[in-house]
Amino acid sequence: MITVVTGPMRSGKSEFIIKLLNSNEFDNKNIRVFYPKIMEKENGFITSSDGSRYKAIPISDIINIYPFVVNTNIVVIDEFQFIDNLNYESRLDFFNFIEYCISNDINLILSGLDLDFRSQGFEIVKEVLCIADKVIKLNSNCDYCDSKLGRRCIRYVNNKVANHNDEVIQMETEDIKYKTACVKCYKKIYR
Ligand SMILES: [Zn+2]
Repeated sequence: MITVVTGPMRSGKSEFIIKLLNSNEFDNKNIRVFYPKIMEKENGFITSSDGSRYKAIPISDIINIYPFVVNTNIVVIDEFQFIDNLNYESRLDFFNFIEYCISNDINLILSGLDLDFRSQGFEIVKEVLCIADKVIKLNSNCDYCDSKLGRRCIRYVNNKVANHNDEVIQMETEDIKYKTACVKCYKKIYR
């Protein structure tokens, strides 16, 4: 079974996953959690905004995942939209891994952003959403108004709204920050 948990930043995706993994449903299951190595600050865990965390393994290439998932029932890959930015020859490797999970009765749970800061879907996420058995979409609060339908990411570079020609994948740093906006506020900012 392929499950996708998606939504913007700070929509509670990791919190949702951690609660799920700690629930009775997953008692006595062999669980492995992974995250892309470029998320350096995670440091061996996936963490949620409410402070909970779950032990996880950083991977730089999906090919390296196989030795870790032998005899595993549940595989979680957090922030899987960053697959595009890893050292893969192509996304085919990722889809080969999905096929491997299906063939070996592994319950695969993928969590990640759906839209980049330009409001365009990450290619890998778009493709996986089409083949998923179950999709859970979460929203965040809008950082600009009181809407609970925050769906879009806005990137700020040195407190200025980023240009849409900038590189798609950039981690949050001192200079680079992200906010979440509802569609109306997003349009006001990018009109
Ligand atoms: Zn808003």
